[in-house]
Formats: sequence, C-alpha cells, structure tokens
Amino acid sequence: MKKCSRWAGLAFVLCVSFAARAQKVDLSQSQMPSVITVPPQAQPSDHFDVEAATNAYLAEIPASARARSDAYFEGGYWLILWDFLMAVAIYWALLHFGWSAWMRDLAVRLTRFAFLQDLIYWFQFLILTSLLGLPLTIYEGYFREHQYGLATQTFGPWMGDQLKVLLVNMILGGLLVAMLFWIGRKLPGSWHVWGAVVTIAFTMFFVMIAPVFIFPLFNKITRLDDPKVTIPILSMAHANGIPAHDVFEIDASRQSTRMSANVSGLGKTMRITLNDNLLRRGSPEEIQAVMGHEMGHYVLHHIYKGMLFLFIVIVAFFYLLRVGLEFSLARWGEAWRIHGMGDIAVLPLVFLIATIFGFLFTPIQNTDTRTSEHEADMYGINASRQPDGFAQAAIHLSEYRKMSPGPVEEWIFYDHPSGRRRIHDAMQWKAENLNQK
Ligand SMILES: [Zn+2]
Repeated sequence: MKKCSRWAGLAFVLCVSFAARAQKVDLSQSQMPSVITVPPQAQPSDHFDVEAATNAYLAEIPASARARSDAYFEGGYWLILWDFLMAVAIYWALLHFGWSAWMRDLAVRLTRFAFLQDLIYWFQFLILTSLLGLPLTIYEGYFREHQYGLATQTFGPWMGDQLKVLLVNMILGGLLVAMLFWIGRKLPGSWHVWGAVVTIAFTMFFVMIAPVFIFPLFNKITRLDDPKVTIPILSMAHANGIPAHDVFEIDASRQSTRMSANVSGLGKTMRITLNDNLLRRGSPEEIQAVMGHEMGHYVLHHIYKGMLFLFIVIVAFFYLLRVGLEFSLARWGEAWRIHGMGDIAVLPLVFLIATIFGFLFTPIQNTDTRTSEHEADMYGINASRQPDGFAQAAIHLSEYRKMSPGPVEEWIFYDHPSGRRRIHDAMQWKAENLNQK
C-alpha cells in the first residue's frame, strides 16, 4: 500500500479500492483490552514495589498490540522525514521551474490591487501545493490510519474534512499572508519585527476563536450532561480553584478511535473537553485521572506559557527568515524571477525556510511540550488521587504511542512522557501515599 503514495492519477483509484479492503482487516487480535484491571503486584501491600507494579501493568498489554503500536509510532519517525523532504521538493520546484513567478504574473494580470494580488496568488499556491502533496497526505492521514485500526471515517467524509481544512487555510491563511506582505512593502527595513508582532497577535486570535468557530466545523461539541461523570469532575475542579460550570464533550469517534482530552481556547473561551472515546471506554477512575491532568494544564497556565514560548520562537524565526531571504535572493532571485522580499512570488522560499526551521526545531518543541505534560501528569495524579486510573489511561493511550522508548528516542520524538514513565510516576505516587490512607 505504501507504493500507492508514489503515484497520483490512475493509481489513486486503486488506492481507494485498497482503502475499502484496509477497513475490513481484523484487528481484534491486536487490540488493547478495554477494561484494565489493577494487577496483584500493584495492589496496596507492605511489600509494594514500584518497578514490579509498573512491569505488571505493562504486562497487561498483549504482545501483538504492543508490536502494532510500536510499529505505528516508529513509522511516524520516518514520516517526519518524508514530510520534510516532500515539502522541500515541492517548494523548490515552485521556485526552480518558475511556477511561482507564473502564478504571480497571473495575479498581476487579474487585478492592480496588491492586496488582492496576494490573495489570488495565495489561493493558487495553496491549491497547487495541496495537490502535489495529496498522495502523501492520503497515505498518511487515511490509509495508514486505517491500516492500524485508528480511523473510523470512509474516504468521502475524510476528504470532506480535508477540503474544510483547505477552506479555513484559504481564508485565515490568506488574511495573514496578505497582511504580512503589506507590512513587507510598507516597512522594508523592519518588516521582520512587525511581521513577528502581527503573527503573534494572529496566533492569539486563532487560539481564542478555535474552540467556538473552528473545531465545530469538524466535530459536534456539546455540554456533557451525565451527572455520574460531571459531578466528580466539577468537584475536582472546584477543589482546585477552577471556576468551571461545564465539561465539554467532542464526538472524536467521527474520525478516530483515539482516546483523548484537552484544554483549548484563551480567556473566556478557555475550556476542558473530553472525547467520546474516553467516555465510552475509560473507567470512572481513568476519566478522573485524565481530567486531573487537563486541570493541571489549566492551573499551571500551560496555554499561556506555551504561547510565550511560541512568541520567542516566532521572533527568532522572523529574524532567521530575513537573513535566509536576503542570502537566497541575492544568489537565485533573478533565476527565480522574484523582484524582492515584498514580491508575493517569494512565498515558496518563505515556506522552504520555515520547513527547514521547523524540522530542526522538532526535538526542542517536543521537549518543551513534554516537560509541560509531565507537570500536568503529576498535578493530575495529585488532584484526582487515582494512580491506577492514570496507569489505565497510559495503557489506553499506548494504542497510538510506543510504550517504552530509549532515552534519546524519547527526547527527540516524544511530545508526552512515554507510557512506561507515566505508569512508573503513578506507581511511585501510590507507593509514597500508601501509608497516608
Ligand atoms: Zn496534556
């Protein structure tokens, strides 16, 4: 099936027929157990041993299920590389073959207003790059997800979601790009500073509106209305100084079998949401442990801290972007028919530099996120007092994450602590709290 991704056109039809088959693969033999019991070694006792309890939990994962999720997660390492190489090839082709200059010329012929020219260019750019990247997108987002039993959508609705993403990109991305190029032309000496400021403001705006205007385009989000679930969660929230009245539920099962929860939004739109897969398959203890983790993100201000980190990254990126553009345009600008940094035809070069920056930055970004996630883990176990629920959640999440990576592997690729580490943390907490009951 991997070969499908290398061929567009005719092979695309073959891929769709493969997809139908992929959905019928029987994965029942390699599924994680839905109910995870507390193993004897993890039961309270005088001789409670953290390592033995951790290993006993890990032993509840069937070998076939572990092999499957290891393969899925390790395949993801390679996808980071393929995505990177594919993006570099596409942006380079747009520059080298003069397609970018051609799209700019077309936009200039259609209107004399620079702002509209930028928008028209952006639409062409987005459609062309999406089409060129489509085979890899389909393999990665559709076939591969079905192959590992993580996807629930048929091809039509999946493609529908992709088109919605494209539409949102056209509108919001178009606004940002047109604003940045307007700044680039007005302030040629300091655009990298003002560009960073506008990008930061735009990011905050997006994070704020996303839970209310963007997520509902893809999923149904409702107020959770089951007192059995909400009463313990809201009680935990109030005990931790969170003035919450509602818990939100998202029908993530529309796309995926993954269990998950998150904190999203900014200011008044900030909220904790849990997905229906977690609600359906998680034990009450597990749901409380996961919600404790999400409350940790909230109380420890991880959204604000994450954005502060992002702001520093954006400022650094814009500075490097300026240096990279000056360097490249001095050498190849004429060959690519780009008239300067304010010329919209430079956009593939901007994306090329951003792609290289993002690729090299992956381990640092992951480590920053993973550090926050570890803080939320510890907060969540303390708040919920459900170490076994937390261990159960770690096992369920390992349906799409490798459980026991090496230290270097974890540092580079993990944006959450590994499942083994999470269970170990929970069992350590349990050992230290056994005598306080
Ligand atoms: Zn988290």
